[in-house]
Amino acid sequence: MTEEQTPEEHARQILERLREGGLWQPQGLGLSYMRTGENSLELLNQHNNPTAAQARIRMNLLLKSIGWTVDESDVHLLDVDALTPQEQYMQEMMQRQESAQSWKCACGTPLTAFPLEDGKWSTTGEREMAMPTSEVILAEEWYVSITCPVCDVVVPLEPYDYGLLAGDDAMTEYSFTVGNEHYTLTALTRPEIIEVMDVTNGYQKLEANDSFSTYPSIYCTGTFFNGHLLPPHVRGAVVRASVKTIREEEE
Ligand SMILES: [Zn+2]
Repeated sequence: MTEEQTPEEHARQILERLREGGLWQPQGLGLSYMRTGENSLELLNQHNNPTAAQARIRMNLLLKSIGWTVDESDVHLLDVDALTPQEQYMQEMMQRQESAQSWKCACGTPLTAFPLEDGKWSTTGEREMAMPTSEVILAEEWYVSITCPVCDVVVPLEPYDYGLLAGDDAMTEYSFTVGNEHYTLTALTRPEIIEVMDVTNGYQKLEANDSFSTYPSIYCTGTFFNGHLLPPHVRGAVVRASVKTIREEEE
């Protein structure tokens, strides 16, 4: 929220970008809203404590004042004060994943039925973003395009939403093409890095059926790979790279 922005403007800006079926959890309030229509929300959950109860009244007034309606007929009260911060985080993640299951294409096909592993990462360049400290930074904007298997519509997703739908595995692998070479970068886990280094340094012998014998190329990633701009989640990682040469007739 910038200094010139009122809470109403801030809320309106967030809500306009929220997809239908998308979850909105304003930070620190203990409230979870889902967008249900053009100008309507449903309050799904409220933390069962006085802070969240007061926030709920304030938010209701604020949302009404900007022309949004809130359905509060089926609110679940969550007893979170007994949970550790980690358990609270896990619970929020489960809620977000559940809400992602309900996202649909305009033709009715659930986004979970799309070939998510074929998602294409693109950037629209840099955008000015106001930080909570009111300082303005340049941030790269990325989105992932997925294609409906039924009606062929291309749906652009925010990277975070894509991660919710496609799962962690999709976020540890990234494919792209430079010239006629098709690369797949796969992030290594810590045990894998240790194994690779031990083999490299001669502390461990490579087994014939070892997965690394087929992926001998290990790299640390920066911003680019062979001149290709990497999306932020692939940068600063230890990856194995596999390359396939695309033959002319396949193009
Ligand atoms: Zn569709």
